[in-house]
Amino acid sequence: MSSSKKVAAIANDCVACGCCAKVCPLSAISVYKGLHAVVDKNRCIGCGKCAGACPAAVISISQESTPHSQPKTQNRAAKQKKRPHKKHWYDYLWIAEVLYLTSGFFNILFAWMGLIFFFTPLMISIIWGTKSYCGKYCGRGQLFELVGGNFGLSQRRKPPQFLRSKWLRYGFLAFFLTTFALMLHNTYLVFAGAALKETLLLFWVFKLPWDWLPLAPAHGYASLVSPWVAKFGFGLYGVMLTSTIIGFITMIIFKPRTWCVYCPMGSMTQIICKIKQ
Ligand code: SF4
Ligand code: SF4
Ligand code: SF4
Repeated sequence: MSSSKKVAAIANDCVACGCCAKVCPLSAISVYKGLHAVVDKNRCIGCGKCAGACPAAVISISQESTPHSQPKTQNRAAKQKKRPHKKHWYDYLWIAEVLYLTSGFFNILFAWMGLIFFFTPLMISIIWGTKSYCGKYCGRGQLFELVGGNFGLSQRRKPPQFLRSKWLRYGFLAFFLTTFALMLHNTYLVFAGAALKETLLLFWVFKLPWDWLPLAPAHGYASLVSPWVAKFGFGLYGVMLTSTIIGFITMIIFKPRTWCVYCPMGSMTQIICKIKQ
């Protein structure tokens, strides 16, 4: 004999961001080796929380026939629902993200710390072949979830198709890598003797004067460090601030972690995981 129950199903184009795993009250969904989410159908009760959180909109709740013995499993799982999620130290890494973003408004040299946010996810995916950075350690993702989800600033609309398309995802990655390479090239030019301009490039177009910071050296950064060191700080902070603002805009209009659908870091780490598999 068989009965039916609701379960979550994952379509293609999962970006392995881990948002679903975070909200599942029964730990019935997880990200498999940084590739895509998988559902433990024995534990899943079809509550739909994962579908509500998924920025890529690839989760659907469907009716599925099950062996007759499974309702017991379902009842057991339903009881676990009352258990609260245990907080870990890494659940507070959004504080590091806030500190980083704030520090750039005091002295641009703090921007160098942003390299941690670049290399940590890459190293995790290269060494362990997972996207656990996205699921656990990404302060930016946590910040979007906190402000958009917990503080209720997000409209929680489903992102439009173009925002979830592979074209945008990989196109944005290519654009990001190109502008990053340009930023390194500009740093090299200053290293080679070009004048240091203390401006911040926002949205890859707008040059904002950035020599008014409270902790900036009175006689310019060139009096404190090699000019290329400051130039790299300006470049990296411009990238970080621009991407954060874009992430906040899509967080407000759509789901809290919409940025994760086209985040270059998330795309790169998933590609690395695919290559490793
Ligand atoms: S439908 Fe509910 S129980 Fe099933 S995987 Fe999603 S959040 Fe977990
Ligand atoms: S895109 Fe993210 S939230 Fe959606 S199923 Fe994949 S891992 Fe889960
Ligand atoms: S996709 Fe990007 S912003 Fe989202 S959790 Fe991963 S690294 Fe962080």
